[in-house]
Amino acid sequence: MSTYFISDLHLDEKRPDITRAFFDFLHGRAAGAEALYILGDFFEAWVGDDDDAPLAREVIGELSRYSGSGVELYLMHGNRDFLLGTDFAQRAGATLLQDPTTLSLGNERVLLMHGDSLCTLDKEYMAFRRQARDPKWQQELLAKSLQERRAIAAQIRMASKSMNSRKAEDIMDVTQDEVERVMLEHNVLRLIHGHTHRPARHALTINGEPAERIVLGDWDKNAWCLKADKDSLELIHWPVG
Ligand code: MN
Repeated sequence: MSTYFISDLHLDEKRPDITRAFFDFLHGRAAGAEALYILGDFFEAWVGDDDDAPLAREVIGELSRYSGSGVELYLMHGNRDFLLGTDFAQRAGATLLQDPTTLSLGNERVLLMHGDSLCTLDKEYMAFRRQARDPKWQQELLAKSLQERRAIAAQIRMASKSMNSRKAEDIMDVTQDEVERVMLEHNVLRLIHGHTHRPARHALTINGEPAERIVLGDWDKNAWCLKADKDSLELIHWPVG
């Protein structure tokens, strides 16, 4: 049985083709899997588990059927959907994962991350990340009405778009020193993350040993997943729609 890793679907009511591709993935390629790991930015935005929008309801329904079929479902926060909470997880039949999380995969330990914390050169974003992960800030935000939260989410997205268009390419990517630091800290030779939208498999050396950083792809024109079987890892993509 295979284990699958996906991230950065950015599910959004404006992109029904991606939602459809995700549901097709659950019913097709990923049906009967051992486990599915969603490593953040599953939603383009998440304003709280009380969100009653049709997309939220529909996705929860599909995830619940999927996990109900016997697949272990795991969910990590990204920088867009950091407000996904225990209520969502419970209804979807998913387990929320800390970022980072180590996992035994076959014979090895791998490290799972969303990847935003690796982009340490982006000081502006790192400051926002600290704020967004602060439980008190989250509580204050969740105390606002759904309508207010939707407006705030739209503002944050616009601000981030204009910020990112001014940023150099390299500060939007991971910092190699930080990658090596977390891999050493967690004593792993393989790291799987998303966030940067630069799907690839990068060879590196950790403690004199060959190691690998696998970057999952964002779902846009193509859908992406990492498929893990007993002795193989395969980064796969296929056209959306
Ligand atoms: Mn992200």
